[in-house]
Amino acid sequence: MELLKEKILKEGIALNEHILKVDSFLNHKVDVNLMNEIGKEFANYFKDKKIDKVVTIESSGIAPAFATASCLNVPMVVFKKQHSSILNNALYETTVHSFTKNADYTLTASKKFLKENENILIIDDFLANGEAVLGTSRILAMANCNLVGVGIVIEKAFQAGRKKIEENGIDVYSLARISKLGENIVEFM
Ligand code: 5GP
Repeated sequence: MELLKEKILKEGIALNEHILKVDSFLNHKVDVNLMNEIGKEFANYFKDKKIDKVVTIESSGIAPAFATASCLNVPMVVFKKQHSSILNNALYETTVHSFTKNADYTLTASKKFLKENENILIIDDFLANGEAVLGTSRILAMANCNLVGVGIVIEKAFQAGRKKIEENGIDVYSLARISKLGENIVEFM
């Protein structure tokens, strides 16, 4: 998506070879016009998948997920991050390793917001090693939902995430695929 790539080149800050900071339009301040375009793009790509719900992970996935759910006219469900296991019967939970924090967290979702056989689209801001998406898909499997696709705003294609998700037969659509990061270097595939 050209508009997004231009924005990344203009405002993205590559902290090192692994981390891209996009605080000025996605992770802290949000460019709502760009989010609307992102929502349209995902909604158009996944339009034939009969999506019942868009699922995302707090907090940075919420803006693009909301825009997508709005275009598809379906609800959005936000999976929550907890510091430790909370053993609540009303919740599904799984342990996920955070790439940016290099620590584990417990991902949870309320059982009442996921129904058997629903078609789910996952939307997230970044794809790195795929842990967040795979954790989300484990919870969707517990709920007997069908994961019909994954939409990613920025994929770091030099990391293992796409391979791990595609190995599970899941379609991954990324709007910007970065092949290389370095201090002041951002290169696309
Ligand atoms: P994964 O679970 O695929 O290893 O990492 C994806 C999650 O980590 C995303 O939900 C995102 O919040 C965070 N993340 C991974 N890499 C980056 C990055 O380069 N920049 C930012 N801002 N977040 C990242």
